[in-house]
Amino acid sequence: MSYMTKPIIFWFRQDLRTYDLPGLSAALATGQPVIACYILDDITPGDWIMGGASRWWLHHSLTSLAKDVSRLGGQLILRQGEPLHALTGLIQETGADAVYCTRQYEPWASQLENLLFESLDERGITFKRYPGSLLFEPGRVMNKSNLPFKVFTPFWRHCRNAPEPMLPQGSPKTVNWHQQAIMSDGVDDWHLCPREPDWAGDWLTLWQPGTAQARLKLQAFLRDGINNYSEGRNHPAQDSTTRLSPHLHFGELSPRELWHEARQLAAREPGLQDQTDKLLSELGWREFSHHLMYHFPTLPEQPFKNKFSEFPWQGSPETLSAWQRGQTGYPLVDAGMRELWQTGYMHNRVRMIVASFLTKHLLIHWRAGARWFWDTLLDADLANNSSGWQWVAGSGADASPYFRIFNPIIQGEKFDKEGEYIRRWVPELTDLPDRYLNRPWEAPDMVLQEADITLGADYPHPIVEHKVAREGALTAYASLKGAT
Ligand code: FAD
Repeated sequence: MSYMTKPIIFWFRQDLRTYDLPGLSAALATGQPVIACYILDDITPGDWIMGGASRWWLHHSLTSLAKDVSRLGGQLILRQGEPLHALTGLIQETGADAVYCTRQYEPWASQLENLLFESLDERGITFKRYPGSLLFEPGRVMNKSNLPFKVFTPFWRHCRNAPEPMLPQGSPKTVNWHQQAIMSDGVDDWHLCPREPDWAGDWLTLWQPGTAQARLKLQAFLRDGINNYSEGRNHPAQDSTTRLSPHLHFGELSPRELWHEARQLAAREPGLQDQTDKLLSELGWREFSHHLMYHFPTLPEQPFKNKFSEFPWQGSPETLSAWQRGQTGYPLVDAGMRELWQTGYMHNRVRMIVASFLTKHLLIHWRAGARWFWDTLLDADLANNSSGWQWVAGSGADASPYFRIFNPIIQGEKFDKEGEYIRRWVPELTDLPDRYLNRPWEAPDMVLQEADITLGADYPHPIVEHKVAREGALTAYASLKGAT
């Protein structure tokens, strides 16, 4: 095999698309033939191997990517195992002399990239990683003292004042694929979708993984949904957010596309500027979380604020299980947990409420909640999940002050006024009048009878009393050194 014909491997990771991929463009620009591969790695992430819901998404996302690659005349090669092992195998089989990929920021992924760089270099193989998952590269957004930002507002102001991210690049028109036939697993061989029980049975009616659907969803949202985003996003019964999070996590949608589509819309219709700015700032939280995890790699495991390492967590397996199953007796909390279990998604406001309930009402460690989310969320993302949980628990960077303990009753009455969200996910409460919907234990017996509810049988009594739990949380917090 002559030097010129040696192929390059483009290793797909959390960038399951064929457009706006600087690494793929760089591989094509060499003129060498390209091999597209994905490696299912259930070893290197350790405790953070992909959870059940994410695996379902991955199955469909890879199926979609394989079609996109095939439309370009190529084949997506699937391999399983440790990436170094899988890649060296592929290199030996094909004579490839380089591996290109898009960068990831999980601590385990950064270590893996360093290992690959060194180990492949020893074998004379080039390993290059490129940006593509974020708008701004971690390490490049620093404050005046050249330190990482720890507070969102100045971080995002800095990003908004920086040169805009580049316009997204289109999908390649033609690709010089490596021609030799290469062995590949079939995605079905990986059994990524649940069986017995198939808890994701109807999810394809709710979600359409893949780039084409992600881009259509973005367009539809910017056309029909953006005008009510800022306010609507607080109301869980409304379909007022993009629901693009799994598409963004798996890289089916380039964040640069979202950025520029929103910016162009605001330029065409200045009246929508506030709405598009709000959407971009939510994307900014995604950036912020990733930058934080890059600079503080213990974020998924350790409290960002050190004083929380002494926090007197309590809780019990029984209360954790009641929370997981949506059986806490607090209708909004239960609605959220059931939405999560049944759809692989939970509305952002409700995520905050259930997380506050777990960490403050039940005094259960945020890591237990993050772990449950990791397994059940389709958009499970180490940076967003860890920083979301730490934000609510009070231990995170720029966290909500500890004494901000969400009252699940008031939150329901304020943000689910008509009770539509609760009735959707906690149908046993359907006939309860609105005024008792968030506090069924206060309903007179007559009302409960008319609504055909026996508390303790059809729907649980609250597992903790709000006021008592709140006091307990504040006492626990006060025991920390340096608590204010
Ligand atoms: P939109 O409102 O349409 O926002 C657009 C995009 O911005 C989202 O798709 C997402 O990529 C990003 N985004 C929005 N809000 C946030 C945020 N607060 N932090 C970081 N990025 C954000 N998001 C995840 O993607 N994965 C997680 O594992 C995750 N875990 C969370 C855990 C907790 C306890 C909390 C409070 C939040 C968590 N979030 C997580 C953030 C947020 O809830 C979701 O990103 C959002 O609900 C997704 O819905 P959407 O796509 O309709 O959001």
